[in-house]
Amino acid sequence: MGHIYDLIIIGSGPAGLSAAIYAQRAKLDTLVVEKNYASGGQVLNTYEVDNYPGLKGINGFDMGTKFREHADELGAVFAEAEVRSLVDEGAVKKVITDQETYEAKAVIIATGARHRKLGVPGEEELSGMGVSYCATCDGAFFRGKTVAVAGGGDVAVEDAIFLARICKKVYVIHRRDELRAANILQQNLFELDNVEMVWDTVVDEIAGEQQVEKLKIHNKKTGEAGELAVDGIFIAVGILPNSDEFEHPVEMDESKYLIAGEEGLTNIPGVFAAGDVRTKMLRQIVTAVSDGANAVTSVQKYLLTLK
Ligand code: NAP
Repeated sequence: MGHIYDLIIIGSGPAGLSAAIYAQRAKLDTLVVEKNYASGGQVLNTYEVDNYPGLKGINGFDMGTKFREHADELGAVFAEAEVRSLVDEGAVKKVITDQETYEAKAVIIATGARHRKLGVPGEEELSGMGVSYCATCDGAFFRGKTVAVAGGGDVAVEDAIFLARICKKVYVIHRRDELRAANILQQNLFELDNVEMVWDTVVDEIAGEQQVEKLKIHNKKTGEAGELAVDGIFIAVGILPNSDEFEHPVEMDESKYLIAGEEGLTNIPGVFAAGDVRTKMLRQIVTAVSDGANAVTSVQKYLLTLK
């Protein structure tokens, strides 16, 4: 029989790395399985993190890198592999990957979340050719140009504010007449001269030959259809949990978040969930790192029951 770890952590975003730090300090024999070295999660693509206590304005990439360095310094062990399935065999959990099968007494799933797509014609075809899901990554390519942001949440508004500094004009296309984003962000947005709100409107198609040229849109209240000439569109319509990328026996809610409370306990003893992938009120870096710490505490309690 191969090596059996105390703990396997799947994912290396803030939740996974926080769990790795706590696990190292608890002297648990731990392996972190990540897709690749740069799988540090959504934080890596965040331009500015403004609400993490003590680190106001830190760049997301720098923050993710610091989390990683901290785990590395404590001797965390990482494996680059894509998980195919998690099999519960009671006292042993098998993590089957595209590389090899790892075994552990406990597993923390910290696989995070990904961008939701609009699902309209042209989105896939023009991805990387004017269709982007990351304003902070791709915004600089649109200097002096006209772009649209689709969505009405915190990310859409933050993206629009960021893009307004770079672009000539930014349309914010939202399907309702009220933004979901925090009030402070809304105030900052509405102060900008080069931002135009396009309310009650959805994108039906993203069109262009080699590059995005225009959006076909329609107003949901009036039914009126129209076109918007843009050089790019930033899609910020929410996130989806990364709970469906491999097979597992963990119960999920109707939106596919892994059902787990603050302690990270799932329906499977010995399998825990931490970070954006679990059911929770607030998906933030600060709550993700908290989840990682809590999950390791739950793992320690669980391991005691095995002895
Ligand atoms: P979100 O809060 O879920 O907002 C998604 C937005 O996209 C909503 O306005 C929604 O419209 C719209 N939308 C969803 N599906 C759509 C579709 N098919 N077509 C058109 N519009 C669609 O997502 P998010 O902005 O990505 O934020 C994710 C999480 O991160 C949130 O919990 C957010 O608070 C958090 N976050 C916080 C901060 C911060 O505190 N500084 C920064 C970034 C993110 P409706 O409003 O009509 O539903």
